[in-house]
Amino acid sequence: MDSILHTINAPIFAPSRVGESVATHCPYCAMQCGMMIESKNDLPVVTPNQSFPVNNGSLCIKGWTSAELLNHPERLREPLARNAKGKLVPVSWDDALQRIAVRFTEIQIEHGHDAAALFGSGALTNEKTYVLGKFARIALGTANIDYNGRFCMSSAAAASNKAFGIDRGLPFPVADIAKAEVILMVGSNSAETMPPLMQYFEQQRANGGKLIVIDPRQSATAANATLHLKLTPGSDAALANGILHILIRDGLIDSEYIQSRTQDFERVKGIVATYWPEQVERITGVREALLVQAAHLLGRAKSAMILTGRGTEQQAQGVNNLLSYINIALATGRVGRPFSGYGTLTGQGNGQGGREHGQKADQLPGYRSINDPAAREYMAAVWGVDANELPKAGKSAYELLNALGSEIKALLVMGSNVVVSAPNATHIKSRLKKLDFLAVADFFLSETAELADVVLPAAQWAEEEGTMTNLEGRVILRERAVEPPAGVKTDLEILCELGKRLGRESLFAYESPREVFEEFRVATKGGLADYSGITYEKITKQQGVFWPCNEANPNGTPRMFTEKFATPNGRARFHAIRHLSPAEEPDAYYPFYLTTGRVLSHYQSGTQTRRVAKLVEMNAEPCAEIHPAIARRLGLSDGAKIWLQTRRDAAQFKIKITPTIREDTVFVPFHWGGAQAINRLTNAALDPISRMPEFKICAVRIVRSQTSIES
Ligand code: SF4
Repeated sequence: MDSILHTINAPIFAPSRVGESVATHCPYCAMQCGMMIESKNDLPVVTPNQSFPVNNGSLCIKGWTSAELLNHPERLREPLARNAKGKLVPVSWDDALQRIAVRFTEIQIEHGHDAAALFGSGALTNEKTYVLGKFARIALGTANIDYNGRFCMSSAAAASNKAFGIDRGLPFPVADIAKAEVILMVGSNSAETMPPLMQYFEQQRANGGKLIVIDPRQSATAANATLHLKLTPGSDAALANGILHILIRDGLIDSEYIQSRTQDFERVKGIVATYWPEQVERITGVREALLVQAAHLLGRAKSAMILTGRGTEQQAQGVNNLLSYINIALATGRVGRPFSGYGTLTGQGNGQGGREHGQKADQLPGYRSINDPAAREYMAAVWGVDANELPKAGKSAYELLNALGSEIKALLVMGSNVVVSAPNATHIKSRLKKLDFLAVADFFLSETAELADVVLPAAQWAEEEGTMTNLEGRVILRERAVEPPAGVKTDLEILCELGKRLGRESLFAYESPREVFEEFRVATKGGLADYSGITYEKITKQQGVFWPCNEANPNGTPRMFTEKFATPNGRARFHAIRHLSPAEEPDAYYPFYLTTGRVLSHYQSGTQTRRVAKLVEMNAEPCAEIHPAIARRLGLSDGAKIWLQTRRDAAQFKIKITPTIREDTVFVPFHWGGAQAINRLTNAALDPISRMPEFKICAVRIVRSQTSIES
């Protein structure tokens, strides 16, 4: 299938690439499917890379249509800035960059270094992530940098760090899924979010394997499962404790493994003893018989995996939820064993690398902590500055956005659309408007860019080279195939230009992403996420390199924890977890749970996919899924309009009546902006450890659309 192509302003193949089919990777999710891009009739066309081992020649519809974005008519092709009348008008690059440098400097002189902030993205390459973090700490000297991955992966990252001492989403290649006898999939709908991954689940089923899905919806993934545990939203920790209770009761734990490879099991045993199945059935709504079936499948299998996704992670108890599922994986002796273990399915394209190399508020490259004196000394030496110059940890993503207009006066957003993707989005939009100065670098005039004082047109995936780290921890290389349109700069060029204007020219004098990568290798050396042994050449030769890759593991590490964990004593840690209720539960006025998620045809805030005709055709607008019993009670027919109202805002949606949703729950996808942005309604209650907002649960009421709503 050829990509559907627009006919204006065709991208030009890089001179060295004309006539070539260039190996690259999809611009969207963390599968980072291998693709070939070539020029046909002077337009770029993508096809699957048949030899790349992760997707094995498969692409989803988003990947197939991704080349359309390169020459899209709405693409930004020149910098914009506000004129005297407040309108965004074209300006020169010199003018745009100078405005940013001058306003950031003025604001920092008046309000202090931390009054300037940066907001990055899990879509940025490792090279950009690294330079963005360096830019924050050295060029601006601000503590306030965070990124949209805080909204995706921070709970999974925190749980893995606590339990295993290190955070690599999947500590094994995706191909291992096919050989697992039993898989417990929690809060993930991979059939829609990353369809090429399902080939491994299909192989697993063909091998006689079983799939257990835990999800409040009978999603496309749950529909094909052996067992579907349709739990009450927010009851994950109770469910996991209940399963572990049964495993212990029925003698299905691995005592030898617990004794030799873990610590702190006895406390967990004490707590889960109180989660007897009848009580767990009351909390979770999952029948005791199903709990027992799930526990027995897991406990009796020769190999078993637990995989988690955003459904269980994007909660104010997200870290605890994951620790309670990790307890099951450890108690049954799975982690580090063949075709077994625990992993999280990372969402964004570079959601893994993006959380390792310094764009997080508390982090330096190589997964080092910014509060660790030794890490500060090391990075200061790499950068050639005094360690005392480096700021300490700053605010997490939501807290940073919530401080706009008060403590934070100037913000540069790179590759993120927070007006759509942040929780309590109406409030966040009002905070953005309170800023003294906002700059946004993006490909399109996103809902966030529309509010900016200066907008910088950025290059896209096929127009620059750089590395990404996929959901397996495999570092891959996107080659440059296409020249960026005239008038567009890469994010790296933008940061280097700004670094120069802020007086740090020598520290941001990179000629190419490859040059950044060489410094980055040194920066990560000895860190938890050690990339020091990786080169662009090795990535190409090996079809990607799994970190850690260093002198001890020169070819990388596809499988982790086979002998020890990354904790000081080499043992994995159990955590005693009690179930706590979500921050908001249904009541008489807001009687339903609201949960959110994705659809097959769109990606994240939709800035890109809402501009692809084929994808819009598949899903033109978000629909609120409600159960037939509720529709009957409210006298609603399929396609009727309703208002959804929460304590924060209200929005109108068309309904889709479906028995796949629980009667007490409404589901709405989150890829749309403006009046259709469901995140206007979601709750910003934060997990106390990861600072992840509770996107997945809040209390909502349904109002028939004839009734007017004050929003
Ligand atoms: Fe792209 Fe993800 Fe689809 Fe693969 S699964 S084609 S990486 S969006």
